[in-house]
Amino acid sequence: MNGVHISGFVSIDFERSIHPKSLVPQLKKLDYRLDVDAQKAHKDLNLFLEDLNETLTARIKAIEYLWNYTDWQVFMPTFTGTDRLMHFLWSAYDDKDHKYHNDFLDHFRQIDQVVGDIYSKLAENDALIMLSDHGFERLEKDVYINHLLVSEGFLTFKPNAEPKLVNIDSATKAFALDPARIYINQKGKYPAGSVEAGDKDACLKDLENLFQSLQVDGIKVIKHIYRKQDIYAGPYLQDAGDLVLIAEKGFNLKGATTARELAGKGPFTGKHTYQDAFLLLNSKDIPPSFSDHPSVIDAGKLIKSLVTNS
Ligand SMILES: [Zn+2]
Repeated sequence: MNGVHISGFVSIDFERSIHPKSLVPQLKKLDYRLDVDAQKAHKDLNLFLEDLNETLTARIKAIEYLWNYTDWQVFMPTFTGTDRLMHFLWSAYDDKDHKYHNDFLDHFRQIDQVVGDIYSKLAENDALIMLSDHGFERLEKDVYINHLLVSEGFLTFKPNAEPKLVNIDSATKAFALDPARIYINQKGKYPAGSVEAGDKDACLKDLENLFQSLQVDGIKVIKHIYRKQDIYAGPYLQDAGDLVLIAEKGFNLKGATTARELAGKGPFTGKHTYQDAFLLLNSKDIPPSFSDHPSVIDAGKLIKSLVTNS
């Protein structure tokens, strides 16, 4: 690979997430972290906020260090702390009297500061692109889709086995993966697959009816139900969920299999939204073909075209 790459929060090993390896000691010296330790939020929100700030401080130092490290064409810092903060403390944003209201705003002020610092370093013809992969809103209720599938007879686990997806019984017609991707338990595709190809469409219709009528506390839960071919394309289409559910405001759909109830409230107070993601750019060189309503996929095409033209 021609360049530097530091993987994000799904990496399981710090050193293996960094390329080239020669950068490892420097990043360790800067106290660089792949992610905030969200476990701390479950114990003590003060510890979590401390960790959040330390992670951001180290990331800013790494950005400053790497800025002059090599002669790059694309430099892409990612901030995941805002996501962690909004999951745990959307309640603090919402309420001016909340103990952590100012801590919440301070984190975003620091992000603003970094963006400003980066902007001030740009050369005249450099393009600055800012984007988020989703927005946020207040979380009212978590809704456990696999719990629904179990109670409606679409999902069963082997007798005396733990309720995990590896223990699915062949009576299963469908199961969900986080956050709300529904897979038909197709014969030949999964170890306990049982739904014949010819029965798949009827099964999808039954599921669509189930999700359309789903209510919690008398409120409709599901806003949109997509079939995979409506929203995905490409060589891995067959591996996508057969249905993708988008929730109504406030509902957070989850794929956990251990929930004891259909709906509940965990430690999170904020949840992702689909429609509030943003894309900002300062470039004059937007290709004429660029969409008025770009998707996150368009951002990649945009970056490629800007680099090619520079
Ligand atoms: Zn998140």
